[in-house]
Amino acid sequence: MTPIAYADFHARSLAERDSFWAEQARRIDWQTPPQQICDVSRPPFARWFVGGTTNLCHNAVDRHAAARPDERALLWVSTEVGQQRVYSFGQLQGEVEAFAAMLVEQDVGAGDRVLIYMPMIPEAAFAMLACARIGAIHSVVFGGFASSSLASRIDDASPKLVVSADAGSRAGKVLPYKPLLDEAIALSTHKPSAVLMVDRGLAPFQRVPGRDLDYAELRRRHDGARVPCAWLESNTPSYTLYTSGTTGKPKGVQRDVGGYAVALATSMDWIFGGKPGETFFSTSDIGWVVGHSYIVYGPLIHGMATLMYEGTPVNPDASVLWSLVEKYRVTVMFSAPTAVRVLKKHDAALLKQHDLSSLRALFLAGEPLDEPTARWIAEGLSVPVIDNYWQTETGWPLLTVAHHIPGVQAVPTRLGSPGVPMYGYDVQLLDEQTGAVLTAPDQKGVLAIAHPLPPGALQTVWGDDARFANTYWHSVPGREVYSTFDWATRDADGYTFILGRTDDVINVAGHRLGTREIEECISGHAAIAEVAVVGVADALKGQVAIAFAVLRDPALASPALEGAVMKHVDAQLGAVARPARVLFVTVLPKTRSGKLLRRALQAVAEGRDPGDLTTLDDPGALAQVKTLLQK
Ligand code: AMP
Repeated sequence: MTPIAYADFHARSLAERDSFWAEQARRIDWQTPPQQICDVSRPPFARWFVGGTTNLCHNAVDRHAAARPDERALLWVSTEVGQQRVYSFGQLQGEVEAFAAMLVEQDVGAGDRVLIYMPMIPEAAFAMLACARIGAIHSVVFGGFASSSLASRIDDASPKLVVSADAGSRAGKVLPYKPLLDEAIALSTHKPSAVLMVDRGLAPFQRVPGRDLDYAELRRRHDGARVPCAWLESNTPSYTLYTSGTTGKPKGVQRDVGGYAVALATSMDWIFGGKPGETFFSTSDIGWVVGHSYIVYGPLIHGMATLMYEGTPVNPDASVLWSLVEKYRVTVMFSAPTAVRVLKKHDAALLKQHDLSSLRALFLAGEPLDEPTARWIAEGLSVPVIDNYWQTETGWPLLTVAHHIPGVQAVPTRLGSPGVPMYGYDVQLLDEQTGAVLTAPDQKGVLAIAHPLPPGALQTVWGDDARFANTYWHSVPGREVYSTFDWATRDADGYTFILGRTDDVINVAGHRLGTREIEECISGHAAIAEVAVVGVADALKGQVAIAFAVLRDPALASPALEGAVMKHVDAQLGAVARPARVLFVTVLPKTRSGKLLRRALQAVAEGRDPGDLTTLDDPGALAQVKTLLQK
């Protein structure tokens, strides 16, 4: 049979939505089959596989443990502490059941929240899967986050229990977590009743009597415990994951159970081309969406082994990732352009030192993939390098080139573009002012998705349906469509090119940061009167944050104060959010009506023409910025 064109296949996924997804739903086990494939009766909400009951942990662990208990499931390597561990599906099930028993003993049940503040160690994955097993909602917070960011997430999620560890480690530097966690709990209004601590022996810590529990002790006690999977209606929330938006208050992206499992299972097969029994390696962190979808749930649901890595791409040397590919016979790998740009600074011969014959493809996502980086790595590895575009909100790729759909022609990659809309996504390019659909090639518009979002995408914002509707669905005039908040163009062949965010979100080394959040934090420093933070192009990290700050007393400007402001950000938000520079100015560029001209600041910082400045109140403001940047 001649394969059909991808565009026709994509059109079918939308036109015959329910039958299309009903077929995909067979990829997972259901305790009760769905009664309705998609309930669209209450836009902008959508409910997938209504009435079906299933469980993420059953699909990721138990069903494989039953069929092939001795096959590898979770592989863990830490170059930070020089350790590695291998868990078969059978062993993984044992660990997860023991963990689930600890949760149950603490009276954690279905619908309760568990906040996970953990480094990249197997216990973090056990914690997530144990929550999924009993229907508790996990909320993983990235281990590097500082106490006040953590406190706001504790207040939003109101967890019954927190799972944490004594410390993480990055590039050989131990980062103690416990003091940050204790301070966060002191700052938060909501107080979790228990804190389950994994002691790695990296950083001594104080226990709070009556609250803090010792993982090792509980693990011994619950060895061999059996805790059945809770069968959950498909639309039950499985987890929340916080992400930055335009305001300082982070949004808890909430996902379901059934839709997520089906979407991941399908993507593992059709997009990533993984096969059960093989090894998938994503270099991300469980604190980010890639870690949820493609370190923990996706590969395991698909019956693959997943390689979890604590370490950097350059320690002990810049060939470490490839040595792992060789050792564990990795077939599919997932990373971020920044990691590749870091490697690019090292000798390309390091890519050739190891046997990479098992590797079939490298997927890169999280930020724009520039052409030189894509070429360098594709030539160095001699495997396809596949860009894919998505968001914390979508949960799985929205634009890429799916190469593994049976009976469907593969879409060739095109440098500079992540690809074409994936099946299930009704992607539209819209005029920002009028909301009109742009159909002619090469027009710039807002990238949007028509209702309903496919399975696996966010259900809502945790505890705030109005914010979900207003933020995402009502930003384009006259239309109720989901806005990605990214600018894009589409060429004559349907390839989409991402041009950057329409809002104040920036992307530093693949991490999404709200400039407003950083501004709010810097404004909290006693010396600062006013501040503007913009994202500026950076050869290594894609973008870095630069802060322009007006001091209460301009005479205090000094390199020491710049350092102090950076430390303040480290302490409040974490080092990920630290601006690359804090420049002290006496006035910020504003319009006569007082609107801050962030885009002009950004243009000047990138050495571009700031455009029309007729509305600028004080022309000296930008001149000052230019002079400072030249220093
Ligand atoms: P996050 O939710 O942290 O994954 O960030 C999502 C944002 O990262 C998107 O809205 C884009 O701005 C950007 N992004 C993610 N993947 C890509 C990609 N492949 N190309 C360009 N931008 C991307």
